[in-house]
Amino acid sequence: MTSSQDLDVIAAAKNWRVTVDSSDISTNINEIFASDVFGLDAMRQRLSKPVWKSLLATIEKGAVLDPAIADIVALAMKEWATDKGATHYTHWFQPLTGSTAEKHESFVTPNAGGGAVAEFSGKDLIQGEPDASSFPSGGLRATFEARGYTAWDPTSPAFIIRHSNGATLCIPTAFASWTGESLDNKMPLLRSMEALNKQATRALELFGVKNFHKVFSTIGVEQEYFLVDEEFFFRRPDLMMCGRTLFGTKPPRGQELEDHYFGSIPDRILSYMTDAEQQLYRLGVPVKTRHNEVAPGQFEIAPIFEHCNLAADHQQILMQVFKNTARKYGMVCLLHEKPFAGVNGSGKHLNWSCATDTGINLLEPGDTPHDNMLFLFFCTAVIKAVNKHQDLLRASVATAANDHRLGANEAPPAIISIFLGDQLADVYDQLEKGRLHESKSGGLLGLGTPVLPHIPRHAGDRNRTSPFAFTGNKFEFRAVGSSQSVSFPATILNVIIAEAIDEMTTILENTIRNNGDQPENFEEILGKVLTETYCENKRIVFNGDGYTEAWEAEAEKRGLLNARTSLDAIEFIPAEKNKELFAKYEVLSERELEARHEVSLDQYFKTVNIEGETTEWVAQTMVLPAAMQYISDVSETINKIKNLGLNPVGISGTLSEMVELTNSLGTSLAHLRQMNNDLGGDSVHSKAFHVRDNVLPAMAAVRTACDAIERIISDKHYPMPSYREMLFVK
Ligand code: ADP
Ligand code: MG
Repeated sequence: MTSSQDLDVIAAAKNWRVTVDSSDISTNINEIFASDVFGLDAMRQRLSKPVWKSLLATIEKGAVLDPAIADIVALAMKEWATDKGATHYTHWFQPLTGSTAEKHESFVTPNAGGGAVAEFSGKDLIQGEPDASSFPSGGLRATFEARGYTAWDPTSPAFIIRHSNGATLCIPTAFASWTGESLDNKMPLLRSMEALNKQATRALELFGVKNFHKVFSTIGVEQEYFLVDEEFFFRRPDLMMCGRTLFGTKPPRGQELEDHYFGSIPDRILSYMTDAEQQLYRLGVPVKTRHNEVAPGQFEIAPIFEHCNLAADHQQILMQVFKNTARKYGMVCLLHEKPFAGVNGSGKHLNWSCATDTGINLLEPGDTPHDNMLFLFFCTAVIKAVNKHQDLLRASVATAANDHRLGANEAPPAIISIFLGDQLADVYDQLEKGRLHESKSGGLLGLGTPVLPHIPRHAGDRNRTSPFAFTGNKFEFRAVGSSQSVSFPATILNVIIAEAIDEMTTILENTIRNNGDQPENFEEILGKVLTETYCENKRIVFNGDGYTEAWEAEAEKRGLLNARTSLDAIEFIPAEKNKELFAKYEVLSERELEARHEVSLDQYFKTVNIEGETTEWVAQTMVLPAAMQYISDVSETINKIKNLGLNPVGISGTLSEMVELTNSLGTSLAHLRQMNNDLGGDSVHSKAFHVRDNVLPAMAAVRTACDAIERIISDKHYPMPSYREMLFVK
């Protein structure tokens, strides 16, 4: 890059000013919230009472959808959407790529008089037929059997996505093959919710809890992300192709001063956040908190938790809005798990609990968890589930990108364990000994000066190193990657916990029956089941520092799984135990599970393959030529100095170092090229292992040489913006 171009980039980034009109920003939350959603209120206003009631029964109680009402709902939905400026509609679905897919159709329908009217029928609403052959199916469908169907999910409301020239009505749908097998992330999620509902309802009956219709999981998903100026982004082929930098030497300053975390948010970033949040409000997404994260250029947003299916859809919408809005502010939003080496990566904390539709949170311990048997039952079920299915939880977050963060002392280790906190750990100690008698309380915290109030202290501290932590009234699964769809991890949580509840409930029911149906000693029977279940599963509980080597050794002694790389974890998906689990609760058939295994391998292979080729391409066509040019310039300088009869003693060192590094770059590049060309066999399995074992190390060697060159070469010669610029110019 010539020096003038180089300066342009910085100037453009530096001189960027917010020009977006702020008059759209409303403080009237009541008025704008969910105004672009065809939710219950909008439906009630536009549907006749019987139609509304019938639809509500489907949405709230899971009743079978009455096909007779589809046309009426479709008409109301179309009128609502066109009033809002929508010209098109789309079935919005979640293929196994992890992102969302949409194919727009206009409302235009020609009429007999040669004109056209806007039409949208019940059939258009209920069913779509996208060509499925270009979506990953893991062998569930051959290309010649291209038919796929989308089916309306009435439990997640339709919404409107706006663009500069209009709007599109988006209808959340499930996506299935011609044979009815799931090709998406929504179907298994909905099925897992049903499994959880059934089993938790059975358990609640034993506890005498009545007057509710449904139990469902609730999730709240914190999203971390990076923002970079687009002037830099478009000059980084690695960021553009792979979403992460494949090169880049760490600047003298990263996150060590810890001054970015919770720091004051720069104007441009804050304007961006506010804009995105306003759009999300209109879409009914209850976003709540925003702050600077640990790494420079890193931020976080978190919503208020919601019903699992809705929250999962909202999470996809959030990612979409965040990415789209960044461009308005001259930035690019990076959702990748590790866009920059050497500073923290991004995760997506999945907070999980379950509740009845009457609002009882089943993981609410209250002030005295030791005598809250309902809470202890559900909490113990979670412990049992996580212990038994460590492999599935690890597999649910297994992607090539997440491997750069898990276990890197900034994110939870790859070993799954549960943090309970002081108070609960103590309660479980008592349970183990067979006598529950007290709950430690946090008390009040004095701050050493009379002007500050005494504040209530939680009964337990937090622990940031645990992949699965109890945090007050929910569990927080922290290993999920920032770019992932939360649907699959949430599906896993729902189904494994449903199974644990089922097994514990069955023991209880049988014991009560054997005792001649005497529910008087229910507490005693329950206490026994809880103690036994806890003792069988307590190896999964770890309240210490998960970043230490001592924990790795201890975990091994306990027989906990340590799937260091994602491929190791993916291999567990089709295990016999997992096939049985998914089949029993009708979440995934054996074929569907195997398809997921294959898609995971395939996505892993493709991701690393693209990275390998991008590394080769950038190193060969950008870094190597720059290095050679610099060598040539320095040699010329040295010759000139010599011709003047002077001694270039301080300069020749740079030259020989550059030559050595460039030679080593040439060698490692040749090796990478060879590894890229060797595809690693024919099966997706062997290809995935080939890229992990051969391409990734070859890329690392190329990067090492390039990063060393970046530290020596003149700034003007280096062909890409540096970490220093990308992370600090905002
Ligand atoms: P932290 O950063 O301390 O982990 P946040 O407040 O940023 O906490 O995020 C906590 C998340 O947990 C929020 O999205 C919140 O809505 C969610 N949450 C709170 N209660 C529940 C619950 N019962 N079920 C699911 N999620 C919950
Ligand atoms: Mg959190």
